[in-house]
Amino acid sequence: MKDVAVKSKRMHVAIVGGGMGGLAAAVALSHRGISVAVYEQSGVLREVGAGVFIYPNSLRQMERMGLGDALARVGARVGAGSEYYRMDGSVVGKILTTDSSGWNGMYGMHRADILKVLADALPAGAIHTGHKCIGFSQDEAGAHLSFENGEVAHADAVIAADGINSVLQKHVVEPSAPEYAGFRAYRGLIAADKLPDWRREAHQVWMGDGKHFMVFPVRGGELLNYVGFVPTSSETAESWSAVGDRDELAAAFAGWDPRVTHLLEKVETCFWWGLYDRKPLGQWVNGRLALLGDAAHPMLPHLGQGANQAIEDGTALAVILQACTQDTPVHEALKRYEALRQPRTSMVQAEARKNGLRYDSKYADLAQRDKEIANSAQLRRSLYDHDIEQETLKFLSLDGVAA
Ligand SMILES: Cc1cc2nc3c(=O)[nH]c(=O)nc-3n(C[C@H](O)[C@H](O)[C@H](O)COP(=O)(O)OP(=O)(O)OC[C@H]3O[C@@H](n4cnc5c(N)ncnc54)[C@H](O)[C@@H]3O)c2cc1C
Repeated sequence: MKDVAVKSKRMHVAIVGGGMGGLAAAVALSHRGISVAVYEQSGVLREVGAGVFIYPNSLRQMERMGLGDALARVGARVGAGSEYYRMDGSVVGKILTTDSSGWNGMYGMHRADILKVLADALPAGAIHTGHKCIGFSQDEAGAHLSFENGEVAHADAVIAADGINSVLQKHVVEPSAPEYAGFRAYRGLIAADKLPDWRREAHQVWMGDGKHFMVFPVRGGELLNYVGFVPTSSETAESWSAVGDRDELAAAFAGWDPRVTHLLEKVETCFWWGLYDRKPLGQWVNGRLALLGDAAHPMLPHLGQGANQAIEDGTALAVILQACTQDTPVHEALKRYEALRQPRTSMVQAEARKNGLRYDSKYADLAQRDKEIANSAQLRRSLYDHDIEQETLKFLSLDGVAA
């Protein structure tokens, strides 16, 4: 495709999808002086009732975008007492809660809270709710979107941050279905004062026979987020509207560590969510269109990195597109984003699958599993230490681009 460098005017990027990936990309781009518009299909920005773990690799970037104070106000510090257990509660090892420098850059967050922090950081009028994208085209002049409500939008580049069932993905690669992992994640929130003896700052993971359970605090420690991963033979809708059966959840973990069974007695409502991922896609970019977040690299949640990687994507994209406004055509800049990000997210997708096997005790010899869990601090450290802004600048300078 023939393309021209956008030199004379401020670059404008349209982002389809107002989830964590889309909004974080919008903030990163806007922070670097690029004009953004986010188009979200829902009438309101929505993330319903559950937690998400934010790790140093993405918090470092969001702090640089000026979001540190806002995140600190709504996050819950996670640190002391974080441990892995066997299902009976015997300790397998500590969970790493710092990067190599000793920085405890991690929060348990309520999903709605992080979405609000990101949305509040955008210029007024940048988010367009009620815009379900149904069409994409591109030419030399730009990229063009059409929406179910009859509106159209134009931009220099379009970022598809429209999730695992991305409608725009088919403009980049042959359509394919996500892979079902055979698991249902039951999750929800409990008021922390219902469990006064609970370790307030701990991320705790219990690993049993074919399933696992975890708890971490969110919203300044007011709430505890729990997730129970249970195998199922039938595929589970990937939808927040699927209300889980609390008795079924309690039954799945009957006989486990009394801390788990006691917590489950306090559950009033829970949601369920089917677990899906994909093998790495062959490409993420077609001309002026690039995939980001779950649209590009959905991963199993067993390293808690899906949203964190989406935030890294957004940072890399912003650094690259900022450099692009100097002398690089848009489609070449997006190809650089793909080349930089694909190897790392493919690695994380694969490691998340492996970690799931550890958590679900799919090992003939549990001592071997426990050894690998103890060694997993090394992988976590390499994930947390990654400074995507610095890596992108390095990548661009090796490529001869002045950023
Ligand atoms: C059980 C579980 C636990 C997890 N825990 C963690 C964790 O602790 N840490 C972590 O980093 N990740 C975690 N994840 C993964 C994380 O939730 C996802 O990776 C992340 O939400 C992906 O963000 P996204 O913005 O790419 O996609 P999404 O959050 O799916 O957002 C996509 C957005 O696009 C919108 N959209 C879709 N189609 C259109 C359209 N046609 N037009 C306009 N808008 C559209 C949707 O309405 C939605 O708002 C977990 C996942 C699961 C299942």
